[in-house]
Amino acid sequence: MTLSFHNLCIWVLALLFPSAQAAKFFQNPSQLPEGHQYDFIVVGSGAGGGTVATRLAENKALSVLVIEAGASDKDFFEIQVPGLSQALPHAIDWNFTTVPQVNAGNRVMGYSRARVLGGCTSHNGMDYTRGSRDDYDQWAAITKEPHFSWDSMFPYMLKSEKYAQNIDHQSEVGHLNPAIHGYSGKIGVSAGYTEHPANNLIIETTKVMKNEFPFKLDSNDGRPIGVGWAQHTIKAGVRSSSSTGYLDTTGDNVHILLHTLVTRVLPTGNSSHSTDFRTVEFATGVQSPNIPQAPRQQLIARKEVIIAGGVINTPQILLNSGIGDKSALQALGIPSLVDNPSVGKNLSDQIGLFGLLPTTLPSTDFDMTAALAQWNKNHSGPLSRRGFVTLNHLGWVRLPANSPVLRGHADPTPGENSPHIEFIPVSVINVTGTSPIPLPPLTADVKTVMAFAAVNLHPITRGSVTLKSSNPFDAPNIDFNLLGSDLDLAILREAVRSTQRFFRASPWKNQVSEMILPPANVTTDDNALNSFIQSTVQPVLHTVGSAAMSPEGASWGVVDPDFRVKGTTGLRVVDGSVLPFVPSAHVQTPIYAFAERAADVIRQGHP
Ligand SMILES: Cc1cc2nc3c(=O)[nH]c(=O)nc-3n(C[C@H](O)[C@H](O)[C@H](O)COP(=O)(O)OP(=O)(O)OC[C@H]3O[C@@H](n4cnc5c(N)ncnc54)[C@H](O)[C@@H]3O)c2cc1C
Repeated sequence: MTLSFHNLCIWVLALLFPSAQAAKFFQNPSQLPEGHQYDFIVVGSGAGGGTVATRLAENKALSVLVIEAGASDKDFFEIQVPGLSQALPHAIDWNFTTVPQVNAGNRVMGYSRARVLGGCTSHNGMDYTRGSRDDYDQWAAITKEPHFSWDSMFPYMLKSEKYAQNIDHQSEVGHLNPAIHGYSGKIGVSAGYTEHPANNLIIETTKVMKNEFPFKLDSNDGRPIGVGWAQHTIKAGVRSSSSTGYLDTTGDNVHILLHTLVTRVLPTGNSSHSTDFRTVEFATGVQSPNIPQAPRQQLIARKEVIIAGGVINTPQILLNSGIGDKSALQALGIPSLVDNPSVGKNLSDQIGLFGLLPTTLPSTDFDMTAALAQWNKNHSGPLSRRGFVTLNHLGWVRLPANSPVLRGHADPTPGENSPHIEFIPVSVINVTGTSPIPLPPLTADVKTVMAFAAVNLHPITRGSVTLKSSNPFDAPNIDFNLLGSDLDLAILREAVRSTQRFFRASPWKNQVSEMILPPANVTTDDNALNSFIQSTVQPVLHTVGSAAMSPEGASWGVVDPDFRVKGTTGLRVVDGSVLPFVPSAHVQTPIYAFAERAADVIRQGHP
């Protein structure tokens, strides 16, 4: 990919004249300053780790080490360019796979998680969504910690956000509510959009079908129900991540160790009964499942260790450390140090699928060469907006209380401000071009198709992360137990049918024809639609819950409301794995807010 002259100059200048204030980077453990002691060691640099490390380091008297398994995000041009998010290399991914999903055609599914500075915020879809008021109020109720209520967490959402108009100066009037946004935080948020006739049709549909699809001015107001313009974590045409938004603002009291995999945390001190887990063990050489005994090194944090490896790796690190289900660990030959069967359980994600409709609308494709030249010049144009989803709206639907789909079931959402379903008009694809979604065989008359995504936001099924072996370089077993309940399947059926009703509305009459994926005759038959769903459903990658927070003293859960790992001292988890269930959102924003809260809690513990 082309490196812009502008960026090249900045990086060359940064190399020649490193600011005394900037964080220090190390490419391997041997480069770390000898004998240096760190107050906090943070494992992982995603939405959780990048945020908490940055906030703790605002006290310049504290020394913070961030250990990240991946490379620097600055090594990958495609990460910076929002419109290239589909072109990201496999090298920045853990490239996980799930175990066969027995209720979804026994399929083994690819499961993406970023292995790079900034974690998934360096490769995600950049949608900025906070979730519903009920999500937070329910987290507060479950954890018995009122601080997690919407009203208490709202200031943290504002604290992490820096909203500004998009780089192309497109008008955003009527696209969001400026009064509910933050203007001086760390993560850039903007609401640029593709100029396309679908925009008007979508807004017209909210007028003619206002019962099911009312217009929503700003879905970030705590009640995301309706159809509105999307907002993105993009700052002046460049991806804003926990690396660029948070870590780039830190000073030289932050050290960032790249390319280094943390294998375990260990009790510190001589007592065999110590549960003071302030020692971090990491690999120092080649890190491969084929070399389970690769050399390791240890460092002790003066104050605390914070694990922020994300929803898969955090439970993996805890389990490898002997913190987990005693009998399962002993079966693998791992000594049990803290018996806690909840570690790795409660894996919670949304489930979704893609569909297609033939359309006469123009494709959202653009001339890549011209777009690259424009982005390189001043970060504007089509590549300044997110890739893959090149249309501009998100739809959130709450099923009515008397919906036949819910009959006989408790409401799976946390309350009446919460949608059951999300649908996303994704892009308009020229069938002869490159499609981001595999296209089914099409008849010759279909030249252009509209892709959409339909999502069940609140599946009741939970999955798990378990160890395959005692080798810390082995990927763990990831089991979502997809479609493990009839209700999960029924709501996804309704998501497809709701999307179909949206595109059957009068504004689309001469613009789209009947769905071809799933075919319209499939959508009328529950069994046929079930088969389609079982063969196409995927986890949406908004996964949380595998080190879930529970009340102080509860016999279940992995961390207390102050993010401390139960049964230990000196050890906390701050990332998406602590959220007790998946919210009505794409989850980076709730995780940023949780990490902001965690930083305050940790600081209070070390005045
Ligand atoms: C493809 C994709 C698209 C998404 N799109 C959106 C979106 O549009 N909007 C949205 O809100 N959310 C989105 N999400 C979700 C969101 O980005 C993530 O949920 C969020 O970033 C998770 O933050 P985290 O701190 O929990 O973990 P992560 O961001 O995953 O960070 C964990 C970090 O820890 C490192 N690490 C792990 N194990 C170790 C170890 N043993 N040693 C050292 N380092 C380690 C990892 O390499 C990684 O950098 C998306 C997720 C994916 C995967």
